[in-house]
Amino acid sequence: MLYKNLAEIYEALGSTTKRLEKIDILADFLKTLKQEDKEVLYLLLGDIYPAYDERKIGISNQLAIKAISKATGISEKDVVKEWKAIGDLGKVAEKLTKKKKQATLHTSPLTTQKVLENLRKLPELEGKGTIEKKISFIVELLTSALPIEALYLVRTLIGDLRIGIQESTIRDAMAVAFFDVKDAKQKKEIADKIQSAIDRSNDIALVFDIAKKGKVKDLEKIPVQVGKPIKVMLAQKVSSIKDGFEKLGKPCAIEYKYDGFRLLIHKTSDNEVKLFTRRLENVTKQFPEVVEYVKKYVKGDSFILDAEAIGFDRKTKRYKPFQEISQRIKRKYHIEELEKELPVEVNVFDILYYNGKSLLDEPFKKRTELIKKIVENKPFKIVCSKQIITDSEKEAERFYKKALKDNQEGVMMKSLSAAYQPGSRVGHMLKIKPEEKDYDLVIVGAEYGTGKRAGWLSSFILACLDTETGKFLEVGKVGTGIKEKSSAESGGISFEELTEKLKPYIISEKGREVKIKPKIVVSVTYQEIQKSPNYSSGFALRFPRFTALRPDKPLSEITTLNEIREDYEKQRGKTKS
Ligand code: ATP
Repeated sequence: MLYKNLAEIYEALGSTTKRLEKIDILADFLKTLKQEDKEVLYLLLGDIYPAYDERKIGISNQLAIKAISKATGISEKDVVKEWKAIGDLGKVAEKLTKKKKQATLHTSPLTTQKVLENLRKLPELEGKGTIEKKISFIVELLTSALPIEALYLVRTLIGDLRIGIQESTIRDAMAVAFFDVKDAKQKKEIADKIQSAIDRSNDIALVFDIAKKGKVKDLEKIPVQVGKPIKVMLAQKVSSIKDGFEKLGKPCAIEYKYDGFRLLIHKTSDNEVKLFTRRLENVTKQFPEVVEYVKKYVKGDSFILDAEAIGFDRKTKRYKPFQEISQRIKRKYHIEELEKELPVEVNVFDILYYNGKSLLDEPFKKRTELIKKIVENKPFKIVCSKQIITDSEKEAERFYKKALKDNQEGVMMKSLSAAYQPGSRVGHMLKIKPEEKDYDLVIVGAEYGTGKRAGWLSSFILACLDTETGKFLEVGKVGTGIKEKSSAESGGISFEELTEKLKPYIISEKGREVKIKPKIVVSVTYQEIQKSPNYSSGFALRFPRFTALRPDKPLSEITTLNEIREDYEKQRGKTKS
């Protein structure tokens, strides 16, 4: 397929802000998409591989500027000047390519295969001369690109495609394109089936292949695969044990809600253990001790376990809050030191696959019984989650109090008959914790500080997720809760450290203000929600305070606009009464 055709689709999709129009454009495109070209679906999502694959393009603005300069023969300084004026590196590439094309003869046309081939070489490069090699692969593409192709190529490189397409848009377009949907209800049912296939496989092109045939039954057959990350099942919130029983019926399982991070543990039949976060990131290297525990203390040829890893103090054996161990997730170097300093205990609470068979459709009761059979309890290494099965509210309340006393967040209540639904926030797994006003939001902008904070970003614009449109909408700014100085002590983050984390994702700068690609998720507490015309969500948080980085949390799971709206309504209800 010619890249020009793809650029035309990008154009068409980017030309409307209306979701339904985007879906129709995409549906028409999908109907004509040939099987051998299905990998362009990765490109449409700004990616080069399926979501489960960790290899990402990862090109900084600086490197893209160098490549544009080399491909067009215009100095880096002038490219930067254009960038400052236009604010979009893609548009800069388009403009400068146009200028150049007038002077040179047209080279061979760019194909999507060639684009994918070269882009896929980028994450593989390592060691000496990497930067030069990366630039040369990009320059090769840019020199054969038409101006419009250069625009999308550069936007793809820096991860800012701006066509407003999410996995959910492609999902809905597949429902329209391949299934005979008569009404909204049926459309939703089919979309849910497609979503579930995506959540199990995390491969949009694979799902396209199956969906194309128009058979729902085939979608249901897409299996979970050991060794490839799966989206985790998420819980809904209830405010009391009583509400929990009302929703789930009696008896049900009640477990500690551990304050750690989610860990999906895969063991393949060739005895390889792989660990993934809920963000589908492979963190096996970061947790060598967990690999060892799994090999030693869990029976079975192959399996996928769902668990929470929590930090504890080696001396006092007290559990630690999540923010104190969160740094282990991202750490690439000196892993052994950190392992000694911040040990974790793995609490296993579910199983999705065992010895060659998917357990997703088995009732929770069976799954939890199996865990107890195969996991040998080794405290401070690996254990089954603390659990009771009861129909007594009193007993449940006692268990809840005990969980809080043990420094954990609260409890989870689980229906004994429910299946495991990857990627869904289900009504049969509920979380209960003491009321606390906190949100997980993504940083989308910031402002450079002055005085002693000069050179650092010091005020951060936070955004929530609008699930209807897939957009990130601003809800306020945070500057408190961040430390003035970096220090070796664990927990917390300084302005300098946060600035370093955000720098690679800066999209544009204007005076002291910067726009930042939504990447870094943070937890904040706040005192109140107000209506506000100043932020695109229509709401503003009063007195937000930074509490933790959430490197484990994917963007699709941050606080949604609906949740904020609901909390605002609840808050109004309270102040009225
Ligand atoms: P929160 O910020 O309240 O932890 P969340 O949005 O991160 O919520 P939820 O799915 O809403 O995630 O809450 C459930 C989370 O609690 C799970 O993702 C998991 O990481 C953690 N957890 C701790 N203990 C358990 C348990 N026994 N069973 C299931 N999940 C557990």
